[in-house]
Amino acid sequence: ASPAAADSAAGTPAARPPAGLVQITGVHKSYGEHEVLHGITLTVQPGQVVALLGPSGSGKSTLLRAINHLETIDRGEITIDGEFIGYEQRGDRLIELPEKRVLERRTRVGMVFQNFNLFPHLTALENIAEAPIALKRAGKAQATARARELLARVGLADRGGHYPRQLSGGQQQRVAIARALALDPDVLLFDEPTSALDPELVGEVLQVIRDLARGGTTLIIVTHEIGFAAEVADHVVFLDGGRIVEQGPPERVLRDPEHARTQEFLDWVI
Ligand code: ADP
Ligand code: MG
Repeated sequence: ASPAAADSAAGTPAARPPAGLVQITGVHKSYGEHEVLHGITLTVQPGQVVALLGPSGSGKSTLLRAINHLETIDRGEITIDGEFIGYEQRGDRLIELPEKRVLERRTRVGMVFQNFNLFPHLTALENIAEAPIALKRAGKAQATARARELLARVGLADRGGHYPRQLSGGQQQRVAIARALALDPDVLLFDEPTSALDPELVGEVLQVIRDLARGGTTLIIVTHEIGFAAEVADHVVFLDGGRIVEQGPPERVLRDPEHARTQEFLDWVI
């Protein structure tokens, strides 16, 4: 585990440590007067599975959304495979990119939300094929064929023609995961993917995430499922009040946390 270089500004290029696939360095974010991220530094390597834990309001969703550039940040840097999503470096200046370029670059990062967020008027197959077609990555036939493959991969080969309202929450979330995979992202972000599900539907969604983890997909997962985090994560990060309080291998952070805040949180969720 790398020590959290809290509050350190991003270094000059020469002083910069080797970047991870996802490299978060000295990130600060405020809403008005309220600073919700206080200098977050985190490195995620290719194929790594990172579980992001912490109490409600600790900044987990804000951090995920910042990785995706769905939120801007006030200070620090976030890069995916060395590239900013919303900016381009010109000399020593960062130039904001136009919306179209941002959308293009954002496809490097797939995101799965708590409430599935499927398009209600599109079938499961259409939901998955929509972005590749809209972004002209594939023709309709090719995108649909790939969508069928992805549906099979999440165990829903026979549900392609169903609309979201005809699917259970667990099935909708599995379609959402297939949709997030359709643009071959470098990393997938999950924001409490099972929190909105009835308990009997949690397992089928965790199984799909487990398969992705074992298959080598790079994942950052916000979850309160501690047992699941212990099982699939290579690295656990505990966030509290917008700061990384501790991070390390799951067997240490989850079984033998160094900080009282982490222990309190674990006592509360388990
Ligand atoms: P978590 O996902 O860990 O529950 P969030 O990232 O959602 O935490 O929120 C962190 C803090 O930022 C909370 O205090 C929340 O109220 C605040 N916050 C989140 N989004 C906004 C927003 N769009 N405007 C103002 N405050 C926000
Ligand atoms: Mg949240």
